Amino acid sequence: MNYQRFFEEAIDQLHAEKRYRVFANLERIVGAFPRAVWHSEKGPREITVWCSNDYLGMGHHPDVIAAMCDAAGRMGSGAGGTRNISGNNHPLVELEQELADLHGKEAGLVFTSGFVSNEAAISTIARLLPNCLILSDELNHASMIEGIRRSGAEKKIFRHNDVAHLESLLKAVAPGRAKLIVFESVYSMDGDIAPIAAIADLADKYNAMTYIDEVHAVGMYGPHGGGVTEREGLAHRIDIIEGTLAKAFGMLGGYITGSRALIDAVRSYAPGFIFTTALPPAIAAAATASIRHLKRSQAERDGQQRQAQRTKDVLSAAGLPVMPSETHIVPILVGDPELCKMASDRLLERHAIYIQPINYPTVPRGTERLRITPTPLHSDVLIDGLRDALMETWEALGIPFVETHRGNVIQTDRIVPLAVSKSGG
Ligand SMILES: *Cc1c(COP(=O)(O)O)cnc(C)c1O
Repeated sequence: MNYQRFFEEAIDQLHAEKRYRVFANLERIVGAFPRAVWHSEKGPREITVWCSNDYLGMGHHPDVIAAMCDAAGRMGSGAGGTRNISGNNHPLVELEQELADLHGKEAGLVFTSGFVSNEAAISTIARLLPNCLILSDELNHASMIEGIRRSGAEKKIFRHNDVAHLESLLKAVAPGRAKLIVFESVYSMDGDIAPIAAIADLADKYNAMTYIDEVHAVGMYGPHGGGVTEREGLAHRIDIIEGTLAKAFGMLGGYITGSRALIDAVRSYAPGFIFTTALPPAIAAAATASIRHLKRSQAERDGQQRQAQRTKDVLSAAGLPVMPSETHIVPILVGDPELCKMASDRLLERHAIYIQPINYPTVPRGTERLRITPTPLHSDVLIDGLRDALMETWEALGIPFVETHRGNVIQTDRIVPLAVSKSGG
């Protein structure tokens, strides 16, 4: 048997479907966010990153970097073992208290990533509940799907954000049976938001538990960055709130928050928590600094919302196919995997703009897109430059603009006074 051939064929398959992925070799520059050095085949070049999930630039925040250096200087680099073998490092305990407070829950538990937190928590919770039925939104993240699969529990998928469908599934279940509804607040590829209150109402009516992934909302929504559940005053109605430290908080790690008993049970039973080394103290300390900053400061959230809205307005006015989004996420439809990759390559090579193409299986085939994530640090000048680069790319590759494009003076005009008033004062 020629083992290597199987791997080569697996890769060839991706090439044939035009969805073989290439990652740019980047070096981010502190003090120049969102600029980075691209180590291209032709040597290093400075570019602008438009697809980072360091949504608020907190990964470069001086307080966060200082907390990391300080903790590493005092407590060293690694954690020194799993928490079961080597105990807790103090900054991790503080971090878990900070997270419980952020979501108004009794307790929190930190994992080495958001992926691991979903996989470990969902599988453990559903395994501990006898004969549990999981009800899962059809667009849930791969990490939640892994958790569901590993739990061995029966699952039913409800249509995306479709409360009526969810209710029809709940109605059909024997009333006494354990039920866990798993869903996200912000869906990161389309930028839409779940009907959280309506799902919580159904959970009450049918006595189901609720598990929400707030990965794309923590730090960014709610007056303290507690996510959409905080913004809508619904945190107390959701049993488990899961989040990441790796996106808006600019660090690494994932977590769940919930009741003391539930958190203690996951801590005690989840292999994905027990059998892996804890996060280093420096990462925990830096994450705490980031969360504390975003609890107090609204400036980053306001800046992100303002620049995301401006990006949507400017690109839409230019006739670019901005997909509808209620959040900071700005998806632009390409609708073809090869064109999507070509557009991304052209933006990088000709315009020094980095936007990773999003292809199947991350999104359904035919909805391939560029997913743009403006931060508070993407200035109006950068947004205008992005529009020009996208328009050149769309023209050059023959990607369709939306109907209203050519000669739409009214919409284009709307942009000019905005830009003038910004630079004027
Ligand atoms: C990124 C992501 C995760 C995983 O979080 P990491 O900390 O990056 O492992 C979980 N859920 C959703 C919806 C995500 O987009």
